[in-house]
Amino acid sequence: MAKLPIAIPQLVESFGPHLHQTPPGGWTSAEEPDRVVKTHCCFCGQQCGIQLKVKNERIVGFDPWEEFSFNSGKLCPKGVKRYLQGDHPDRLLAPLERAPGKGFRPIDWNTALDRTAAAINRIQAVHGNDAFAVLSGASLTNEKAYLMGKFARVALRTANIDYNGRLCMVSAAAASKKILGYDRAANPWSDIRKSKCILVAGANIAECAPITTDYLWSAREAGAKIIVLDPRMTPIARTVDLYIPVRSGGDIGIFNGMLHVMIERGWIDRAFIDAHTTGFDEVERVVRRYTPEYAAKIAGVPASMIVRAAELWGPAESSFLLHSRGIEHHTKGVDNCMAAINLVVATGRIGREGSGYAMITGQGNGQGAREQGQKCDQLPGHRDIENPAHREHMARVWGVSEATIPHKGLSALEIFEAAHAGTIKGMLLMSFNPMVSLPDQGFIREALEKLEHFAVIDFFLSETARFADVVFPGSLMEEDEGTTTNVEGRVIRHRKVVHPPGEAREDWRIICDLARRVGPKDKFEFDSPRAIFEELRAASRGGASDYYGITWEKIDERQGVFWPCPDLDHPGTPRLYEGGKFAHPDGKAHFQPVEWRPAAEEPDAEYPLTLTSGRVVAHYLSGNQTRRIGALVKQTPEPYCEMHPRLAEKLEVEDGDFVAIESRRGTTTLRAMIVKTIRPDHVFVPYHWPLQRAVNNCTIRAIDPVSKIPEFKICAVRVKRASRPTDENVQLGPEAGGLR
Ligand code: SF4
Repeated sequence: MAKLPIAIPQLVESFGPHLHQTPPGGWTSAEEPDRVVKTHCCFCGQQCGIQLKVKNERIVGFDPWEEFSFNSGKLCPKGVKRYLQGDHPDRLLAPLERAPGKGFRPIDWNTALDRTAAAINRIQAVHGNDAFAVLSGASLTNEKAYLMGKFARVALRTANIDYNGRLCMVSAAAASKKILGYDRAANPWSDIRKSKCILVAGANIAECAPITTDYLWSAREAGAKIIVLDPRMTPIARTVDLYIPVRSGGDIGIFNGMLHVMIERGWIDRAFIDAHTTGFDEVERVVRRYTPEYAAKIAGVPASMIVRAAELWGPAESSFLLHSRGIEHHTKGVDNCMAAINLVVATGRIGREGSGYAMITGQGNGQGAREQGQKCDQLPGHRDIENPAHREHMARVWGVSEATIPHKGLSALEIFEAAHAGTIKGMLLMSFNPMVSLPDQGFIREALEKLEHFAVIDFFLSETARFADVVFPGSLMEEDEGTTTNVEGRVIRHRKVVHPPGEAREDWRIICDLARRVGPKDKFEFDSPRAIFEELRAASRGGASDYYGITWEKIDERQGVFWPCPDLDHPGTPRLYEGGKFAHPDGKAHFQPVEWRPAAEEPDAEYPLTLTSGRVVAHYLSGNQTRRIGALVKQTPEPYCEMHPRLAEKLEVEDGDFVAIESRRGTTTLRAMIVKTIRPDHVFVPYHWPLQRAVNNCTIRAIDPVSKIPEFKICAVRVKRASRPTDENVQLGPEAGGLR
């Protein structure tokens, strides 16, 4: 059973998180590097260009890469400090196995691989193929994401593979596919600068997509009006023309209410709707009821704000809608996104310079990693795993019989529910830290502890890897090469800068080594990421996300290539839907009527406040990487509970006091941060921390029925003043889940 081998403070002592403050050789070591390598930051979906400086085969610093047009040399705090994890004392340097009562002990590679292979064979022989699950990451390169899908379906023949993009982009993906046909930003980011009206819905751009701030500000300097919807007045919201403090879960009220006003005032493009869309009549029928007054009750804001938003957006000469997790992390996440996209298509302002739509990816390869076949319901090229023609195509590429390819499996959270129920008995996990990032942490821990075999590939011993039977030491992005697909849909290339340290290996080698032990050997004879990319090109050919015409050389020549790119002479497709041609077989956009419905758990008399969670600029996802970098931890050392002064007064809480946040699932105790930039009926906690400091102790295990994304953005809590915690982990450093 996957249990902690020793107490957490002892594990932290051996494996961290410890803080790394200086580059190898000190701050002056970067002055005369041996070489400088152009590559990309991988700490968010922007994938900014950066140059890494190398001395004595270690990364010692960075330079801006000003010629890379997406970010023109600009970087955020994470980007400039990320390289400090390369020479980190916490790096895993050899395979490990759990030694109960002692911790983890190093073992050789063959023993580690054989042990996990034997466990897979045993579990699958006794309980069936689907009893072994694979969970993967959206920070992986396209090549690794493709390989993980092939590993699950061809080597293990398990249906149960999914990835942590299930916590990120899936609502946006499903909505975009339903209405527009493709799952991708409709426009290149350069179109944002040319737009005259920008609507930002549920996106803390300055902290979660920092470089996009520059695009918004240059649009504003050129005269654009900007509207922001968010329960928190995030940094970007403080400078815009209209900030709407929508209550979490009330977004459909805003979108449908705006469309109601636009129809009334004639601010929709009837000619475009008639020529290029279907289903508008039903949308019109639904939004007729969403008068500003009715919509305002849903959204929790004055009706005049909804009217003003329609007045700015409706008659604009060009417009751009951006949304992110704020509207997506809901049990109605897909509906929220569809209501937003309806608003775009109704104006006909899409597929043009300066006019369009984009979801903002969060994770490093949030876009590409969801295209390559590691989602439980998709095959490479955005193919549908239940479509017979799509299955036949992949069977040909893989050289297997179609009948051997598993059908749709469980999504990420459902996999943990199956583990908890005892139907999933084993798991291989890579680039995923569910012991921070999944909701209802007590349940997730119980599920992990029931596994008969748990193997993890990671470069640090994450909070989740502490439960593993076997840990394989993997590679950082700059220790391998491959492609990712940025927020715009632009495929770019990461260069190998240095080798993995010690006995650590490139992740793709580990997967191939394991696959050859448990599956058909000849299907995993790749000798490089480029070889995997060549197979990926063929696999994606003819699919929605067609990479067939993309080569690594073409990427280098053009600063990236936008998919779809169906043949070698094709220049790629930066802007989708030009000329009103949408990606459905009939060439039209398909409007989707959306009705508002409540969240899985609304505030009530017992738990009267809405808890919402999110990110801060200094940390990335579960914090497994950023909580080890001194400068980033100094910037934001520990989580906190944001609350409005009116709420603080009611609770008799002062800034810096400890407060206990309690939900029906669990509790976290943190310091209060009193700010006027949040609704008085909401509290906010950033989610990057583990253990007793995890906001996910409180969040709810409820998912969208279509996208299966968890409802991170709303659950009911009560908050009360508390004394300093006395739990067994409070003395740890804040980076490990303790408190200052
Ligand atoms: S915006 Fe994203 S990709 Fe760019 S430097 Fe920051 S974390 Fe890295």
